[in-house]
Formats: sequence, C-alpha cells, structure tokens
Amino acid sequence: MNIIANQVSAEGLYLEEKINPAELDLETDLIKLRSDLLVKAQVYRITNALTVKLNISTLIYADCSRCLENFEWKFNKDVQLSFPLDSSTAVIDFDPGIREEVILDYPIKPLCKVDCKGLCVKCGKNKNEGGCHCGST
Ligand SMILES: [Zn+2]
Ligand SMILES: [Zn+2]
Repeated sequence: MNIIANQVSAEGLYLEEKINPAELDLETDLIKLRSDLLVKAQVYRITNALTVKLNISTLIYADCSRCLENFEWKFNKDVQLSFPLDSSTAVIDFDPGIREEVILDYPIKPLCKVDCKGLCVKCGKNKNEGGCHCGST
C-alpha cells in the first residue's frame, strides 16, 4: 500500500486495500496467515508530515501452545504511524510499517481459549475434550 504524498488534500484520504501476505514477506515458518490482510488507512496531512491511522486485520492460523490444536486467531490492530515529508518525498510506502506491526503483535504463545486445559501429561489426551482417568484431581 502506498500513496503519492501530494495527492493527500487537506481533507485527508481514505484507502482500503487487501494485501497478500507474501507481498509483505510475511510467509515464514513462524508466521502463518490464513487470509489476505485487510488494511484500512485514514491519511491526514499536517504541514510537514503525514499521519496515518491504520486498521490491520487478518486471520492467523495458529497452533495452541497448550493443547496443540489448530485454531483461527483474529488479528485486528489499530495503529497510528507518521511519516515526515520533505520536498523530495514523492511516494510513501506503508508496507514496511504494516509488516512490522503484524510481527510485533503476532502471538508467540497463542491459546485456543483463555482457559485451555491443555494435554494430560500422562496420556496426552486433550483435556478440553473431557477428563481422562489418570486422575490427579
Ligand atoms: Zn488449546
Ligand atoms: Zn491422562
């Protein structure tokens, strides 16, 4: 996602774009996005800078760190970035900023639910699906 700096008028500019994760170099072993990123940007111009209010949303394909089940995790983040402008600034590219924000908030130890019971250490049964008989309750 990028904009031409001098096309931003005093009233600002609204942009919405779907971005493929591969375009942002967000396809790695650690990062698994299930859908395109939907990026909404409200751009304001203030004398020598652009202020950009971004909403970034996508679906993450996560493995629960306790029970190892796959689940979908909704990523949704509002962030404000600002870009200094000078006479030589023609095009502003938001992609590096968007990429960084996704990486910053990417769940390192995601949980399928806050009270995920995890796996039984003895038999390996997923305790969310009912108790086992190893009985330490
Ligand atoms: Zn879980
Ligand atoms: Zn068990």
